[in-house]
Amino acid sequence: MATRVQSPPGRPSMRHGSSRYRHSRSSLYVAHTPSLEPITTPDEDEDADESTVSSTPDSPPTSPSPGHGQESSSSSTDESSPPYKIAAAPLTDGVGLFATRAISKGTIVLCEAPMFTQPSPPTRTNSTVMAALSQCTRDEQRQYFNLANAHKSKGSGAPGTQPVLPALGIFETNALPCGKTRSGRRAGVFLTAARLNHSCRPNLARSWDETSQQMAFRALRDVAEGEELCLNYVDVIGTRAQRTEELQSAYGFECVCEACALGFEELAESDRRRAAIRRLFEEVAVCGNEPTLGLRKVRSFVIDWLRRCSRGSYVQVKLALQLLKEEELVHYEASFCFDGFQFCILVSDFVNAKAWIRKAWEASCNTSGPDSPASRAFKMYWANPRAHELAGVLPRATLHGPD
Ligand SMILES: [Zn+2]
Repeated sequence: MATRVQSPPGRPSMRHGSSRYRHSRSSLYVAHTPSLEPITTPDEDEDADESTVSSTPDSPPTSPSPGHGQESSSSSTDESSPPYKIAAAPLTDGVGLFATRAISKGTIVLCEAPMFTQPSPPTRTNSTVMAALSQCTRDEQRQYFNLANAHKSKGSGAPGTQPVLPALGIFETNALPCGKTRSGRRAGVFLTAARLNHSCRPNLARSWDETSQQMAFRALRDVAEGEELCLNYVDVIGTRAQRTEELQSAYGFECVCEACALGFEELAESDRRRAAIRRLFEEVAVCGNEPTLGLRKVRSFVIDWLRRCSRGSYVQVKLALQLLKEEELVHYEASFCFDGFQFCILVSDFVNAKAWIRKAWEASCNTSGPDSPASRAFKMYWANPRAHELAGVLPRATLHGPD
């Protein structure tokens, strides 16, 4: 709904088969957020942020984190070994990462630099991957060629095209998006993280840190010792049939995670909830998918939309949050909370807007850390909600907060 939403990349694509990576979506938690560029780079934003901080409970703290999304592992600060091990994963016929001790929500479980990165296709070819591999050690090369290759026995997908050669096939199967440079977006292979299996109810989120040039993997919830650590390779707010179709197409396997292995009635209930979340997600963000809309059009659209929603659109956000909680899909929470913030901002309900943006910030800190562009933006809006360009666009009204 924000006019500054740039394009779908920040938001999970619902298009079937769009994935070329294990994770084709970047930053799911900022799916509905507007472009962050104007508020993440200028120094004055930091100044404004800090200068507006007060000691009131509804103002952001001066320290970067209130105990959410600690940059160091809270459960491993007194432990020298990593909180995971690579071991056989019976359900996948391969290996996976397993927690070696209890891990608390928001903890960084793994921080890893890519073995190498590559540009986006068509610049990326088997030759460019081979050239990058030639710069790696023999041990790294050996580990690389032991990784999964979902393209082993098939072509590139389009009729008449050449089969995908092994080095490129492994890259396409395992690479994760890791930011963009002046020459465009890049993806990289992470030798340890490549062992993380998929789950439709993941317990890890990933976020790329531009400063350290590393990928951080944080616990989305408390993880028990012995539990397998998993990411989601595809959007997981679809039904099991939709998830299965996408996973089969992109990775050639059928998921047997706890969400997919539910009994008939429980699975039907899960499908109903996830389908509802997807519908809400698309409805709430419908304006965000139209970056060409001018503010006037957005305004008339929102007015009309609010009229049609008798109880206010924030109710849909609250419903979505409840469904996310039931499905344990917390990595979408920040996005919906930011929507709640925007609804309140539209009608100058700054009290509730602050409550929503605080919740968005807390959720974002847990999934991507306090220094991520999204967390910094949320914190800035928490300190100064009037800075949002949609503030006061609609007649003044009082909505509700998240709780
Ligand atoms: Zn599954």
